[in-house]
This record gives sequence, structure tokens and C-alpha cells, in this order.
Amino acid sequence: MAVDRLAVMTEAKRVVVAAPRGYCAGVDRAVITVERALEVYGAPVYVRKQIVHNRHVVEEFEARGAIFVDDLAEVPAGATVVFSAHGVAPSVHADAAARGLRTIDATCPLVTRVHNEAKKFAAQGVDIVLIGHAGHEEVEGTTGEAPDSITLVERPEDVDALVLRDPSRVTFLTQTTLSVDETAETIARIRTKFPLLTDRSRDDICYATQNRQAAVKHIAADADLVIVVGSSNSSNSVRLVEVAKEAGAKDARRVDNASEIDVAWLEGVDRVGVTSGASVPESLVQGVCSFLEAHGFPPAVEEVLIEEKTFFGLPRELNAR
Ligand code: SF4
Repeated sequence: MAVDRLAVMTEAKRVVVAAPRGYCAGVDRAVITVERALEVYGAPVYVRKQIVHNRHVVEEFEARGAIFVDDLAEVPAGATVVFSAHGVAPSVHADAAARGLRTIDATCPLVTRVHNEAKKFAAQGVDIVLIGHAGHEEVEGTTGEAPDSITLVERPEDVDALVLRDPSRVTFLTQTTLSVDETAETIARIRTKFPLLTDRSRDDICYATQNRQAAVKHIAADADLVIVVGSSNSSNSVRLVEVAKEAGAKDARRVDNASEIDVAWLEGVDRVGVTSGASVPESLVQGVCSFLEAHGFPPAVEEVLIEEKTFFGLPRELNAR
């Protein structure tokens, strides 16, 4: 009888892994860029900021001879420096040129698209409301393209206090890794406050962020617990925790890897959802699934909501090699 009860308990338990999850095309490209730079130029290769916001990726590259710096002043003249997937302001390119550095720009093409829009609107004299998180590297890079034309708002309530040069010449741009739902709310407020908004049909939240949020919503509705694998500075990973909770998960937690799971979170839990942010290697997700198996859960099943086929070629500095 005891064995039968155990079988029933195990049957009630379920682990569902969301798809898509993990690496997006921009992160994949940035990671391969550093790998290729190390092969082509040899260690050390300098990387401005974290190449992608994942502690494990950064530590692995450090072991292979990459040196991560916050400021180009830390890079010796003539050295090779890679710019991260989040993009940089034009002043950073100028600084690198002035220091005689060889640069490889791993900015995600979808971030570059936002930079180009910022330049276009600024040249037209249009004020830009940038929806994003203060201090995030992507926001700093985009703002650097048109600092006199861009005003940052972080949440819907911030819109009410906006005072711009000409309320009839206003548009918006967004960070690529925001919550789809909250951003829609912020844009609606901007449209109400500035009805003559220079129109844009959509936000700039990238396909990978949207797909990962849709996939986690799909598995969260009947989950007792959703575990999101991702680092604390990964905007899209942090958003996945919020989205999972809003979609109905009884609990949602972010971990860098399986070692951060507190077994107390599993008490009384039958249905676990697992996903990962766009900068997270799949091995870390598999580590979480193994941890759950070791704690009485069955092997995970994957629920694929959307197939992704997006691919970006390497930066031209490496393509030419
Ligand atoms: Fe590019 Fe989106 Fe990936 Fe960021 S999350 S690197 S914008 S594809």
C-alpha cells in the first residue's frame, strides 16, 4: 500500500518546461562573437560590461581569457574590445577610437534598430519618451544617441508628470526586454496625454522577450511554482517572474542555477513550471530539472508554444576575417 500511495503522489506531480526559453538570436550572436574574438585575436580580449547579463556565461569567458571592464579606461591601448549585446552610446565608440582600441560591436541588431529610430526622430525635432529602466545599459546606449531629445519613463504613473517641448511632436521608444502588458499600459497613457503622438504602430519589445513571456504565461496558469533561471541583472528574466505571477502561478522564483533552489519552496507543490531568460545557457535549465527529479518530481515535459527561427550573422568586424 505504501508503494501505491507513493506512485499516486508521483503521478500528481508534474514539471513543465516552457519553450521558447533561453538563448535568443542576439545573445547567441554575442556569445559566439566573444568565442571567435578569442580564437582570432587570442587572450586577453576585453569586453565592455557583461557580454550578456548572465553570471555563468561571464565566468566561463573569464576562465578562457576574456576581461570584463566597466570603462574603456581599463583597456590598454591597441587591445581588442567587444561591445556587449545591450549596445553603447556613440560617445563610447568615439572614446574607443581616441584610445586606439580595436572594437567588435556585438550590439543586438534589434537594439541597433531602436538606436536608429532615436536618431531619426531626434533629427526631425521630435521629443522621444523612452520607456525603460534607469541605469540599464541598453537605456544608457539608446539615450546616448539623442540625449537632448529623450526623456525616460519607467512605469505608467511616470507619464503624468511629463513636460515636453512641443506636445504635438512626441513619440515613444521602448527598451527591448520589458513586460509586454505593463508597456502597453504605459503607451496607452502616453497616447492619452499626447493625442497628437507621432505614430508608431508598436513597441520595441523584441520577439524573444515577447515569446518567452507568452510561453511562461502558458505554463504558469496552473503552476504551483514557476522557477525562472536567470541572473538578477537580466531584465527579461526578472520580467518572466513577474509575468508568471500575473498569469496565475501561485509562486514564482528566480534562480541563477539549481543550487539556489530552497527545498522549502517545494513543500506542498505538485506542478512546477520552469523557464529561463534570453541570456541563460540550457545546461542551467537542465540542472534545475535534475534537481527536481532528485526531489521526487518526474522527468520534465516540454510545452512548445512558438517555434523560433530568428538568426543574426556575426558582427562585420568578424565576418571579414
Ligand atoms: Fe536582442 Fe531581444 Fe535577445 Fe536582447 S533579448 S539580445 S534585443 S533578441
